[in-house]
Amino acid sequence: MEGSKGSKRDTVNILGVNIDRLTATEALGRAVDMVRSDGVSVIYTPNPEIVMAAYEDTDFAKILNSADMCVADGIGVVYGAKMQGTPLPERVAGFDLSCGLMAEMAKFGGSVFLFGSKPGVAETAAEKLREKNPGLKIAGTCDGYFSEDDVPKIIEKINVSGADLLMVCLGAPKQEKWIAAHRGELNVKLCIGAGGSLDVLAGTVKRAPDIFIKLNLEWFYRLCKQPSRIGRFAALPRFIGEVHRANKASKRAKKQK
Ligand code: UDP
Repeated sequence: MEGSKGSKRDTVNILGVNIDRLTATEALGRAVDMVRSDGVSVIYTPNPEIVMAAYEDTDFAKILNSADMCVADGIGVVYGAKMQGTPLPERVAGFDLSCGLMAEMAKFGGSVFLFGSKPGVAETAAEKLREKNPGLKIAGTCDGYFSEDDVPKIIEKINVSGADLLMVCLGAPKQEKWIAAHRGELNVKLCIGAGGSLDVLAGTVKRAPDIFIKLNLEWFYRLCKQPSRIGRFAALPRFIGEVHRANKASKRAKKQK
């Protein structure tokens, strides 16, 4: 599997997942190019939990590596890259990238289809987006709770809508697997796997205050707000441990050469 389009990529491999070495501004520029050119591009936004899932599931790793751009959504990924001596410029939050992209699309009347989250959330997110970005067209919405039998109809709805951008917010790894399975049937220009972004846009989940984001403590805020996610956060120490182990093994191998 290969990304279908896009310029040459400069990536950092972390535990088998290729992450683009881009600033948030550069990533946004790439995303705008993708949404304005033909063919279906794909962007994924892995955090340490997603990288760990891919480390333990080679098929999932192949899916992530089939993207046209993978940005470091979690600060843990940025730390991991630094630890192995291949630094990334900064964290590129999938939510910020998606919002920045839609603001740019509003300037040229681009259209977005919002797919995912509980019934009603995508519609509320659409209203908020319309208020914020008057030039943006909301091509359609669909909730993320469906059966396999519903998929052909969902794809038809997306394609008939004429959307340029498809935000797929089904959570990981469901969204990445869905995009990879249906990329060839979609007529959109860009798909983004954007996790809980629709919940935040709709206001059903609050994003961390700016100070937490600036201090790279957004994960801590989310953990305090949703302690039930503790199991998911346990992936972070495992991720750091595996990066450390992989780093040591690669240094040893270099010495032996
Ligand atoms: N979700 C969905 N369909 C499913 C499972 C989850 O649409 O079958 C939605 C869920 O309602 C939520 C999002 O996927 O809006 C996942 O949010 P989460 O914060 O877990 O995503 P993350 O960004 O952490 O992957």
